[in-house]
Amino acid sequence: MHHMTLAEIARGLADKKFSSVELTQTLLARIAQLDPQINSFISLTQDLALSQAQAADTRRANGESGALLGAPIAHKDLFCTQGIRTSCGSKMLDNFKAPYDATVVAKLAAAGTVTLGKTNMDEFAMGSANESSWYGAVKNPWNLEHVPGGSSGGSAAAVAARLLPAATATDTGGSIRQPAAFTNLTGLKPTYGRVSRWGMIAYASSLDQGGPLARTAEDCAILLQGMAGFDPNDSTSIDEPVPDYSAGLNGSLQGLRIGVPKEYFSAGLDPRIAELIHTSVKELEKLGAVIKEISLPNMQHAIPAYYVIAPAEASSNLSRFDGVRFGYRCENPANLEDMYKRSRGEGFGSEVQRRIMVGAYALSAGYYDAYYLKAQKIRRLVKNDFMAAFKEVDIILGPTTPNPAWKLGAKSSDPVAEYLEDVYTITANLAGLPGLSMPAGFVDGLPVGVQLLAPYFQEGRLLNVAHQYQLNTDWHTRTPTGF
Ligand code: GLN
Repeated sequence: MHHMTLAEIARGLADKKFSSVELTQTLLARIAQLDPQINSFISLTQDLALSQAQAADTRRANGESGALLGAPIAHKDLFCTQGIRTSCGSKMLDNFKAPYDATVVAKLAAAGTVTLGKTNMDEFAMGSANESSWYGAVKNPWNLEHVPGGSSGGSAAAVAARLLPAATATDTGGSIRQPAAFTNLTGLKPTYGRVSRWGMIAYASSLDQGGPLARTAEDCAILLQGMAGFDPNDSTSIDEPVPDYSAGLNGSLQGLRIGVPKEYFSAGLDPRIAELIHTSVKELEKLGAVIKEISLPNMQHAIPAYYVIAPAEASSNLSRFDGVRFGYRCENPANLEDMYKRSRGEGFGSEVQRRIMVGAYALSAGYYDAYYLKAQKIRRLVKNDFMAAFKEVDIILGPTTPNPAWKLGAKSSDPVAEYLEDVYTITANLAGLPGLSMPAGFVDGLPVGVQLLAPYFQEGRLLNVAHQYQLNTDWHTRTPTGF
């Protein structure tokens, strides 16, 4: 049962081949048996899962249907879940039970999903390896000595290990697409404003966006349908109609113009990945797409700009964790200042502290113009590059990551080396554009992803291209040994 996709589960439930309760019990047993190897969950919610599964079975028995009715999923542990620990991978929030559900959680629950638990993540979503979690590193099911990518590494590892068919995740600089690439999944970062951020614990508010992680584009379409839409509680949510993503999967790719940026194939890219990207381009050409070389000249400035903007926003967002209003407070503080200092010093891990300091520095009087303002100007140039490119092409294609998943610990003492791995993903966040990563082959037994980017609100186009690709390739069907 654990090999089924969301689409197969929906058919099985509709045909009464099994019940949601049976499926939920099977997956909970599988998690108990296998998760100790990969550490993909921070909390399990068995009781909630079984009651939601029972309720979904009753709704189906009463004649209701729906692609997500009775479907087991998990939420990245930065989506607030009422009465359930929402830790953000941090000691700071280890004791935090959210008083309300995030909009994404509430919408998916209303659609009938079954929440199996909360998945592990880099602390406050800062990282590309899922090694900064206070709950320990997540391991990649394809090779337990390697990282699964981050920061949504728990959601990715759980889906890749067939512990569940799909999970929610968030992407501030690549955290849906990069772990998707490292674990052979399909992951979609929607247009900024497409999915509500209400109840999603903020890292960098102008970049954060929730989205689906699953094995296929077809399943991403199903999960995104349940997540997307206007939310009056989120002032950056956009009031645009949500198309029927599943209905759009079968469009023909005849005449689709695909742009391949020449800057993508520079020295930092593993040549074996470059080879696989060229193969995927040929595959799409066979399906009728037309390939064109394009240029994104300001791409080289994106990493430095991102690593000013994201920490600046984080330093502001994380100021609320002060030992008073939320989460951890140190023992026996000598006075108020001692309480602030030690609560934050003991509650946050080293990567989070580094970013708070970088951000506070970049925003301070006298440095603001030199760093933050400059970074915002680069952000505009990056966006302009994309706007120019999308006058000529419908989709931009390239690698998701310059390298496959590295060994656990290999970059943990060199933060900048880890930041450089985000080179292909962060530009979409700076511009607010939608992006998707899908499986494109293997290097040394480790998965490789190809990334597709589209104009604003063209998530449907990304899913359509990925689905057609997946009908003609089988990379996404490969399963890691032992799972
Ligand atoms: N790796 C990037 C960072 O550390 C992106 C993380 C994310 O998308 N949440 O900021």
